[in-house]
Formats: sequence, structure tokens, C-alpha cells
Amino acid sequence: MSDMKYNPPGRSPAEIWNHEDSIDPELIRSRGILRKTPTGDVAAERMNTISAWLRQRFGRKMIKLALDGGFTCPNRDGTRGTGGCLFCSSTGSGEFSSDISGQIDLLSSKWPRAGYLGYFQNHTNTYAPAAELRHKFGAVLAEPRIQGLVIATRPDCLPEDVMDYLEELNHTCFVWVELGLQTIHERTARRINRCYELSEYDSAMKKLRQRNIHVVTHLILGLPGEDRTDMTESLDHVIRQGTWGLKLHMLNVMKGTRLASEYPGYQPFPSIEEYVNLVCDLVERTPPEVTIHRLTADCPRPLLIAPSWSYEKRTILNGINAELVRRGTCQGCRFGFPTTYSCSSTK
Ligand code: SF4
Repeated sequence: MSDMKYNPPGRSPAEIWNHEDSIDPELIRSRGILRKTPTGDVAAERMNTISAWLRQRFGRKMIKLALDGGFTCPNRDGTRGTGGCLFCSSTGSGEFSSDISGQIDLLSSKWPRAGYLGYFQNHTNTYAPAAELRHKFGAVLAEPRIQGLVIATRPDCLPEDVMDYLEELNHTCFVWVELGLQTIHERTARRINRCYELSEYDSAMKKLRQRNIHVVTHLILGLPGEDRTDMTESLDHVIRQGTWGLKLHMLNVMKGTRLASEYPGYQPFPSIEEYVNLVCDLVERTPPEVTIHRLTADCPRPLLIAPSWSYEKRTILNGINAELVRRGTCQGCRFGFPTTYSCSSTK
């Protein structure tokens, strides 16, 4: 386990990007996200990506090791709902702790200097008694090359004793919790069968932040019935709630999901350009201290129905970067302080 000290959330952008020096906000506005390079220089980036943030935080490339803790989900077992969320394929594949050391050994041949975070990704990874979580998470942290945990869950699966355990974990290793909110709009939440209310997200956020635990919020772009205004309102809400990180998923229509059967022919976005434009608008509204974890979505190509170009992740990400360059903008340029950018976006 890492003995590195954990930087609690709530620090100023300058402290996050450059732990020692204060940086003039004017420089951020004019040059983008500033980050110290290994040589001590300050480099400008257009987004505060989690990969760059982690590299600075740990001094090395960090790899998230996907783990399956064998959890289920209250939206599948009848506790909060049945059938799961509209878009969820929920195969739940994977094997808990399946030879973590072996996986790291394999990856080490390609990235000999990398560090690792255990990523509990599938289903709802706090949907169990705290003692069981302690056992499962502890087993992963027993591998000395694992330097922290990433725990994806639902806000309605964080009772006090689990919160207390997460707080304890947060004092002994690097941790962030991911909350799958998807949208703030109750009409959409009902449509996608999310089976918890926005107030439950707000309450979980408040409690996690009171415990100084980093929270990453998932939002889905392109949900049925939502337009740009709806998606922008969701982003603004989670920023106001103090999310530390952001995952923007493009909605994928996947074979075998209720989305595919109930919305045949649904196209979340007509083109890559449309999606890229929207994401750039949202990134510009996102404060620079918020870490960006994802701007696309993953879907095994044989299961993908729409958008047909969704698997072209590199093209989409390159398009987002190219569009920010073309606009001359960066993350946060439209948040918090007036900007002089001439922005050609449609909003
Ligand atoms: S998306 Fe998450 S909360 Fe929804 S059914 Fe799937 S595992 Fe459960």
C-alpha cells in the first residue's frame, strides 16, 4: 500500500495542478490548464485529465485494474427495482481478485514503472455489509503494488457504516468513489428505470464530501427525451454539488438491453461532429479543478447498435481536442470568470 499522503478534495486549482506554486488565474485563462512537468517546467493543457492528474499525484503512470467483487445491484434484485437501468447490459463478467498479482506482472512488462489502483467497476460495489466490503477491499489492498481503490456504486447504497468504512479507507490509502447519476431530471430517471431520486445523490455527495472523499459523477449524454439544455443542467448541478471528477458517457445502444428493445432505431447523436461539439461546450463549462475521467463510452463492437461510430474512441477524442484548439478554448474557460475567448460554439 502506498505511504504517499492523500490530498483531500477542496483545494484550489493552483494547488491541484502545481502543489507548491500559486498560479495566476489569468494564466489559466490565457494558456489552459497548467501542470508541472517532470523537468520542473510548467506545461499548458486544455483539459484536467485524470491520467495527467494521477501522473502528477503519484509521479508515475497509474493503471486502473478492473476487478469484479461479485456484487449485485438493488435495481436488479427487487430491492429498489427489477430489470436494471434501461441501458445496462449488466453481464457482470469477471472474477473477483482473479490473480491480481498475475495481472500486474503481465502489465509490468509493458509499463515497468506504473502504479496500480484497484477498480471495483461492475454492478454496485458497496451493496453489501461493511464487514464484507472490508474483507473484499482489504484482500485487494494486500497486494503491495495496489496503491489505492476506485469504487463505483449507487448513492442509495451508502449507509452510515459503509460511509464510515470509506472514510477509514480514505485515511489509509488513495480512494475515490464513483456515483452513477446519469441525469438530474426525474422524468428521464423514471424513463431509464434508475430507481433512486436526485435527493439521494445530493445527500450522498454531501456526506462523502464531509468525509473528504473524492467523488466522480457519471453522466450519460444522449438519453431518450433529453436535449442540450437538459444535459447542461445535469452538468451544472453536479458541479454545484462539488463533484471532484466527471465521466461523460455517450449513450450506446447495445444488443440485449431494454434500450434496444424499447427504443428500436434510437440514435443518441446523428454524427461525431454533433457529439464533439456538445462535449466541448460542456468541458468549457466545467471548472478547471474538476478531473475529467471519460468523454466517450466503451462497448464491445459486436454488441454495438448505435451510434455506429461509437467504437472510434481515438477519432472522437482527437476530435474533441482538435475542436478545443480550433475554438482556442480550454476546460473552465466559461466557468467562474469572464472569458475573452472568441468561442464559435453553438451555445
Ligand atoms: S447501471 Fe448500475 S444501477 Fe443500473 S442496473 Fe446496471 S448495475 Fe444497476
